Amino acid sequence: MAKITAIEYFRVLPRWLFVKVTSEDGLYGWGESTLEGHTEAIEGSLDELIGRFVGYEADDIEHIWQVAWRLGFYRGGAVFMSAISGIDIALWDLKGRKLGVPVYSLLGGKLRDKLAVYSWIGGDRPSDVAAQAQERKDQGFTAIKMNATEDLGWLDSPSKLQSSVDRLAAVKAVGLDAGLDFHGRVHKPMVRQLAKLLEPHQPLFIEEPLLSEHPEAIKAFSQHTTIPIALGERLYSRWDVKPFLESCSIDVLQPDVSHCGGISECRRIAAMCEAYDVGLAPHCPLGPISLAASIQIAVTSPNFVIQEMSLGIHYNKMTPPEAGEYDLCSYLKNPEVFAVKDGYVQTPKGVGLGIEIDEEAVRKVAVDCKAWRCLEFFGPGGEVREW
Ligand SMILES: [Mg+2]
Repeated sequence: MAKITAIEYFRVLPRWLFVKVTSEDGLYGWGESTLEGHTEAIEGSLDELIGRFVGYEADDIEHIWQVAWRLGFYRGGAVFMSAISGIDIALWDLKGRKLGVPVYSLLGGKLRDKLAVYSWIGGDRPSDVAAQAQERKDQGFTAIKMNATEDLGWLDSPSKLQSSVDRLAAVKAVGLDAGLDFHGRVHKPMVRQLAKLLEPHQPLFIEEPLLSEHPEAIKAFSQHTTIPIALGERLYSRWDVKPFLESCSIDVLQPDVSHCGGISECRRIAAMCEAYDVGLAPHCPLGPISLAASIQIAVTSPNFVIQEMSLGIHYNKMTPPEAGEYDLCSYLKNPEVFAVKDGYVQTPKGVGLGIEIDEEAVRKVAVDCKAWRCLEFFGPGGEVREW
């Protein structure tokens, strides 16, 4: 046994927040608490948790999770759960390193030797998707995800929808499967119309066809389409997931390991999905630690379908200007762990999360790193639109 002696966090480009936990035996683990656009809030939440958990046994991951969840009285939500996630992931990494095994060995062992993956194309105003799809194909991908639409009004012109269909057809013509992220931009008045137009082109899934704050509307919508419905990035615990499983309204759950309470909670959510015959596609437009943690869960989950990765994602290139120099593998000493071939990444063999973080590079960038900010979209009258 060894007590936690330090929990540190590092704000790094392009938009990530890494967490490092060190124990008194000199061991360490890395986690990721990135919550895009809310960096300062996470740092504040982490400050509170650091004050509580330094001095706890690093081995007692579940005890620490339960103390954070139950003894804080107020619980859940994106900020608090992302803060817990970073510490939880780091503790699993530390434990794996201590025992000399991958985290998945501690979760029961791997079920697969490689994992299907996809990455993004198209940006927020998707155009020229055929060329970008070809680029991904050349990189080794067999599936991509893209935004289905630009920002939309509650009831917009039906003419806005045809371009979504054309883009999907263009990507399929390249020979790739495509998940379409509605991103909360599509509202209830238009969702059935858009799904019906897309249906003949067989998207891999549609993501957040409506925002997950509308469970009743998603349930009703699910009875109008044969396209698999995916969501979950804005659900933060097994209790948030429960109503969607009970209502049979989703087909694929996309928990984000850096938002839903870390490896401990994401693993439980994955098992709940299995019990409802729902697939698992861990959400991960974030950094390398989040991806490595997602992979550890994916390889042990029988219902795993495909893993998101942020290689070349448009968000990484936005703000500040120097952020564009950083991508998924910028802080890794062993970037080969995320190599894509024929649509798959190999199951990692290394201890802990299977990645080695370049701590010197992290500390250097963290010295004066600015926080990433959320995008802003407005309609023609200046009214707010979902991004
Ligand atoms: Mg999404």
